[in-house]
Amino acid sequence: MEDQISKILFSREELLKRIAELGEEITRDYQGKNLLVLAILKGAVPFMADLIHQIKIPLAYDFMAVSSYGASTTSSGVVRIMKDLERSVEDVHILIVEDIVDTGLTLKYLKENLTARNPESVKIVTLLDKPDRRKVDVKPDYNGFKIPDEFVVGYGLDFNEQYRNLPYIGILKPEAYQ
Ligand code: 5GP
Ligand code: MG
Ligand code: MG
Repeated sequence: MEDQISKILFSREELLKRIAELGEEITRDYQGKNLLVLAILKGAVPFMADLIHQIKIPLAYDFMAVSSYGASTTSSGVVRIMKDLERSVEDVHILIVEDIVDTGLTLKYLKENLTARNPESVKIVTLLDKPDRRKVDVKPDYNGFKIPDEFVVGYGLDFNEQYRNLPYIGILKPEAYQ
């Protein structure tokens, strides 16, 4: 598995250091607010697990699963909800937790879908941002790291469901998916 990684972009230590900073910012911004941390399955799970330890106010967390079709390294733009929330969000401030914003199609769809449910607010925290590839206008409110246009895996991010268990973020060698 690790021989398919051409470069480690962020070690576990670097990830945790940045996540602590994000947690501090979020703790400050959501003081006194009813916070729902909403992780998007499956990629955001490791990030969310480390992030909530660094958010030092009461919160609830939940999950949604969305899918764009196929085993591909790019988003198709067709977003479908595979697992939805089971309760109303009218009394909560939603913080969407994503692994990566690439074209932005997934988050634009999700943000609009959730906003239509009348929550107190909807914001986005993403671990990684690939701004060069954006197709639609969506801006994360909190971002861990900007990265260049390379396909990355690890720490929740997959190729074909593999590599999610790597404890770091690395660049996948193109021959692993071409
Ligand atoms: P978007 O809708 O912004 O194009 O894509 C969002 C989703 O595409 C991410 O949540 C992620 O599942 C997948 N994705 C985009 N870029 C990468 C990448 O570099 N590596 C991996 N593993 N997934 C990616
Ligand atoms: Mg994702
Ligand atoms: Mg994926």
